[in-house]
Amino acid sequence: MFKKILIANRGEIALRIQRACREMGVKSVVVYSEADRDAKYVKLADEAVCIGPAASSHSYLNMPAIISTAEVTDAEAIHPGYGFLSENADFAERVEQSGFTFIGPTPESIRIMGDKVSAKQAMIKSGVPCVPGSEGALPDDPKEIVKIGRAVGYPVIIKAAGGGGGRGMRVVHTEAALLHAVQTTKAEAGAAFGNPAVYMEKFLENPRHIEIQVLADEHKNAVWLGERDCSMQRRHQKIIEEAPAPGIPRRVIERIGERCAAACKKIGYRGAGTFEFLYENGEFYFIEMNTRVQVEHPVTELVTGVDIVQMQIRVAAGEKLPFTQRQIEMRGHAIECRVNAEDPYKFTPSPGRITTWHAPGGPGVRVDSHAYTNYFVPPNYDSMIGKIITHGDTRDQALARMRIALSETVVEGILTNIPLHRELMADAKFIEGGTSIHYLEGWMAQHKR
Ligand code: ADP
Repeated sequence: MFKKILIANRGEIALRIQRACREMGVKSVVVYSEADRDAKYVKLADEAVCIGPAASSHSYLNMPAIISTAEVTDAEAIHPGYGFLSENADFAERVEQSGFTFIGPTPESIRIMGDKVSAKQAMIKSGVPCVPGSEGALPDDPKEIVKIGRAVGYPVIIKAAGGGGGRGMRVVHTEAALLHAVQTTKAEAGAAFGNPAVYMEKFLENPRHIEIQVLADEHKNAVWLGERDCSMQRRHQKIIEEAPAPGIPRRVIERIGERCAAACKKIGYRGAGTFEFLYENGEFYFIEMNTRVQVEHPVTELVTGVDIVQMQIRVAAGEKLPFTQRQIEMRGHAIECRVNAEDPYKFTPSPGRITTWHAPGGPGVRVDSHAYTNYFVPPNYDSMIGKIITHGDTRDQALARMRIALSETVVEGILTNIPLHRELMADAKFIEGGTSIHYLEGWMAQHKR
């Protein structure tokens, strides 16, 4: 096992990784930007090194600064968390070339999965069902594009091969609008992701977003840790996640889970990962794979009892997975609400000083957050300031605990989306379970929020 790990991230996930290290008796170093000087994980760190100004490009995305910090602090491995450099194959490669272990998959796996076109091709080869669409990236010839559009059938969605975070997507309802949409998405993708390639998929009208968590080691073992339902989204970004997915028969989930674990073995995958699917009319359609820990990993941890972050570290250190698929059991139900510093109904960011922070507690309640009273939420980064996760024997109990937890939570000084979560936890359709990815947007329109 490593003696010391460098955490190349910020916010709640930096704290989460720090806690995993501490439990394993591993020292950790956090890097931070000038804007995060007063962050909780910096105060709690074994060691902390300021690597640059607030702008991510000069700090959390600054590869030489991160790698040289690992050198001077004698860290042996680097945990990238999520976002920032976590899915950057060049970074993983540079980390390894500099003599450190990258806590994640190989650069090759990241590269294949980071390009959604090559990821889909790899999945088709491994027997994982995908959304019907273009075979690979769209060609330049407009006539060919129109032909592909007709074959796929409208509505379609044009997606950037290098897209992420809900960006680089455009829905097209008619052939007349197709070519213009392709051109604009290409231009945007080139500017935003440095890769203008786009591809086409059938736009599914009412799917749910269901994802499968996997863990694999370098000794050819791979397991899946159940599913998560992440259908409650706004602007393609998740805000509520739960495990298991309500209303889907276990044998249907098992079939897809087994395929994901088999695909991991086939592609030589190592570490934690997530296969994301759209689920409609009883069928799963792969959309992308995330080669890192997800924001919503705690719901899986609560129902399986597996510490995903510790497992990432163990398999990166070359250990074998300590369990087989048969030993993994799902127990009860877990729900996560992402707490964002934003206007709950306009979704505009609301950075600033938190004058009161009171986190909930009690049976089955977990709070992963770096916030505290008097913490200043910097305007420079993602607006998520924490996650409230509840667990119960049943979905009803997890929901009841979430309602209580949300009623106990006090955040003053900034706006948060907690009022929206309170409303959704009381919403009849959400309580019933199984709402689609478009539900929240419809709900907002209906409630004139
Ligand atoms: P990102 O990497 O930006 O998260 P994804 O490919 O995972 O992009 O898609 C994000 C979300 O966009 C999905 O959860 C879903 O809400 C929507 N989406 C993506 N592809 C389709 C599709 N073919 N049909 C309908 N909705 C889609």
